Amino acid sequence: MNIIQEDYYPIKFGWVNCYLIKTEGGYILIDTGFPRKRKQLEKALEEVGCSSSNLKLIIATHGDFDHTGNCDYLREKYKTKIAMHAHDSGMVEHGDMLWGRKMRNLFTRMILKVLLLLFRAGKFRKFKPDIFLEEGYDLSSFGLKAKVIHLPGHSKGSIGILTSSGNLFCGDLFMNTGKKPGKSSLVDNSIELDASVTKLKNYNFFNVYPGHGSSFKIEDYWKSH
Ligand SMILES: [Zn+2]
Repeated sequence: MNIIQEDYYPIKFGWVNCYLIKTEGGYILIDTGFPRKRKQLEKALEEVGCSSSNLKLIIATHGDFDHTGNCDYLREKYKTKIAMHAHDSGMVEHGDMLWGRKMRNLFTRMILKVLLLLFRAGKFRKFKPDIFLEEGYDLSSFGLKAKVIHLPGHSKGSIGILTSSGNLFCGDLFMNTGKKPGKSSLVDNSIELDASVTKLKNYNFFNVYPGHGSSFKIEDYWKSH
């Protein structure tokens, strides 16, 4: 596990990123990875001193199981709460990544079906979130100067976490697994996805931390698109 900026700890599991953020008096975990990577995640949390006494909150950027795969387990173990957008809660409550998605895109359907098969094998634990995060939700009561931005497109309930220091944890709005960062290749609604990207022009921030691939500067993305 590398420290990429003073208080941010990216935890990489193959192609999925989770981010542990050190806040005033504790930690916030953004996304939780696949169920089968649970031991690796627990080890990474332990290494930096994150425990049941100081994990204040788990945030899921959206409902897909590669991001929510350990939410329920960690909530129980760390005696904490799970927060996500209401529009994706059906996915985790029913254990169905197709839930609430229009799925007009055949490619997306196929990929998600393959992922569903994989995750069944990985024993996804269904759960109900404790807190629903809406546009503008202020996370300062959890010790983090950050706000929630609703960024639908990859899924209806996709969100980003924008910190006052200028970092955006964008979930799967962007991916950066190839030569340069781009929009998510798994799209539920491309019009909404484009609108979410355009919406980001209203905010002042510098670094983007995606759910897949390396972090990048938003400036570089704007320059190349
Ligand atoms: Zn993902």
